[in-house]
Formats: sequence, C-alpha cells, structure tokens
Amino acid sequence: MATAIRLRPRLRIRERLSRFSSIRIGGAVEAVVSLSSSEVLGDVLDMYHRGEIPGPLAFIGRGSNILFPDAGLGGTLVRFEHGDGGAGCRWLSGGQVEVDAGLSLPALARDAARRGIGGFEFLSGIPGTVGGAAVMNAGAGNGQWSDLCESVLVATGTGSHELLLPEDLAYGYRTSALLAGADSGEASSGKNSGLLRAVVLSARLRGEVSDPSECLARLSSHLDYRRTTQPLDEPSLGSVFRNPSGGPPGYSAGRLIEESGMKGRSAGGVMVSPRHANFFVNTGGGKASEFLELMATVEDAVQKTWGVILEPEVRVWNA
Ligand SMILES: Cc1cc2nc3c(=O)[nH]c(=O)nc-3n(C[C@H](O)[C@H](O)[C@H](O)COP(=O)(O)OP(=O)(O)OC[C@H]3O[C@@H](n4cnc5c(N)ncnc54)[C@H](O)[C@@H]3O)c2cc1C
Repeated sequence: MATAIRLRPRLRIRERLSRFSSIRIGGAVEAVVSLSSSEVLGDVLDMYHRGEIPGPLAFIGRGSNILFPDAGLGGTLVRFEHGDGGAGCRWLSGGQVEVDAGLSLPALARDAARRGIGGFEFLSGIPGTVGGAAVMNAGAGNGQWSDLCESVLVATGTGSHELLLPEDLAYGYRTSALLAGADSGEASSGKNSGLLRAVVLSARLRGEVSDPSECLARLSSHLDYRRTTQPLDEPSLGSVFRNPSGGPPGYSAGRLIEESGMKGRSAGGVMVSPRHANFFVNTGGGKASEFLELMATVEDAVQKTWGVILEPEVRVWNA
C-alpha cells in the first residue's frame, strides 16, 4: 500500500494491555510493537528471529473486540495502527480500493463517502481496523465486510504471502476462516490464544460508484442512529454476544438480555449498559474476571427466561 514514509516498528517493553483494548482491561504484556504499515511486518519478524522481542507474537488492530486477561500475556503484541489520513488506502477505478491492515474503518468509510463510493457507510461506526474487520467479518445494519471484499493478502506462519479469495475465507455471521481455531470450533466459543493462522496484510474491496452527497447522508444517519442507541462515550467492546438464530423471531441478543431484566446489572467495575443491553461498559477499574462473571450471569438469565443459549462475539484471550 502506498505510504509516504516507511517508519520502523515502534517497540515498547512491559506495557499494560488495557492501553490496547477499547474496554481498557488487561494486565501486563512483555512487549508491544506498533506498525505504521504492514510493509514493515518483515522488520518485526527479523526482530523476533534476532531475539530482540519475545515470542509468541500475537496480532491485533485497535483491540475493539478483544478481552485481554487480567494476568497479562507473555510474548509480543504486534499492533497494526494508522493515522486517519489517506495513508493505507489506494483508490483504483470503478469503486475498487486497496487497504492496508491498520487502516481505521471510520476513516475508510469517510474517504469512500467523500469520493462518492457507496457501500462502505456501515463501517463508519465500527472502531476497528481493516485487519480486525477481515478476520471478524465486521458488519452493522444490512452491511458486512464480506459484501465489499474481493480478496485478502495474508502472511502465513512460514512467512510467505498468500492471496485469499472469498471462497477461501469462508465468511459467515461475524466469523471467517481467519479466526484462530476456526476449524476446531474455538471460533464459535469466542475463545482463542491470540495465535493466528494467518496475519492480514491488506485487502482489496469494491464499492459502488455513487453520488457523494447521498453517501455522506447515509453515513451521517448511520452515525446518528448509533449515537442515540449505543454507549459510545464509555469503554466497551461493542456487542458482547452474537445475535442468536433461535428465540422469538426478530429478537436481537440485546433485546433478549434487556427483557431478562439484565440492563444495569454489574459485576465489580463492569456493567450491562443501561443504554444497550448487549454492550458491557467499564465503569472504572473493571477486570476481565468481572466481565466473564457478568457474561455468565447474563447467559444464565437469558437461558432461563428464553431458553436461548447466547454465544460470545467478543474474543476472550487466554481465559
Ligand atoms: C463501540 C463499539 C462498537 C462496535 N460496533 C461493531 C459493529 O457494529 N459491528 C461489528 O462487527 N463490530 C463492532 N465492534 C467490534 C469491533 O470494532 C469489530 O469486531 C472490529 O472489526 C475489530 O477490529 P480491531 O481492529 O479492533 O480488531 P481487534 O479487536 O484488534 O482484533 C479482533 C480479532 O482480529 C484479529 N486481528 C486483528 N488484526 C489482525 C491482522 N492484521 N491480522 C490477523 N488478525 C488480526 C485479532 O487477533 C483478534 O482475534 C464494536 C466495538 C466497539 C468498541
């Protein structure tokens, strides 16, 4: 991806994981490396092979879907991060764009709308990166990543690069073949060790050539809706549970939780948001153990009230 300056990875030793998750929870990690572009991933692998950073390496974007453990993690957290400018995004003709793993989704959505490329508006309120969206098949309303995705370039465990097409990616509701342990069923339990089968480097997406003012209007009505329905000013991980396939028709996970009387329920510093029952917020000093305790309380209440078993959407690391 075209980036103006090739910045070397930034290394920090012994950091708090809470700094790298949107819910501000998590103990210490041995090392953190931040990449300004996926082009410098090779430098990180060299640092690892020279013994300058400890293994294992775990790859993240903005940590907007990860619950890190209170006990912390060994090894190195590798973060893909970008500024919000044009870096990490290269527009081609006919609504096609190449995007780097660390590009923020709201920045991509705004850029697309200003250029009059439709279909990206739903990404405007998802506070993650291209890499996280490619793995999670992020979506909102009627849109999801897989509607836009033509291919994903990954680095595999052996260091080689592979171009994956939609048929390789096995996209489903908030899941893909890229989720760690997808084959073993771990993906549906929402748990993983942070070790991935492949690292997302970039993706090629396609939207629809459209009118900029219409795209911008759709984008702002999308954001207005989220501002009125979600606790965006408090630390959270977005939806904790996937919407279930069973249960009363049309009931979202949030509605099932709300109508089980769980809104406002707390465990220590973690609370079921009074604004949106499928969001848990950190009200101050929240811990992963409290988040997990609250998940269990909510799952139990929903199962007793509705007979529905909720499945986590958040990624719980090393639980
Ligand atoms: C307020 C709020 C609202 C949200 N709303 C939505 C919503 O509407 N729809 C929705 O789908 N999600 C939503 N989310 C959840 C989250 O933003 C998405 O899942 C997003 O796609 C995660 O992106 P990320 O970069 O933060 O990924 P992370 O949380 O950092 O990582 C998620 C997973 O992807 C992996 N990963 C990340 N980058 C890479 C990479 N480059 N290579 C390989 N693996 C990688 C990680 O290891 C992890 O398993 C919301 C979260 C918040 C806090």
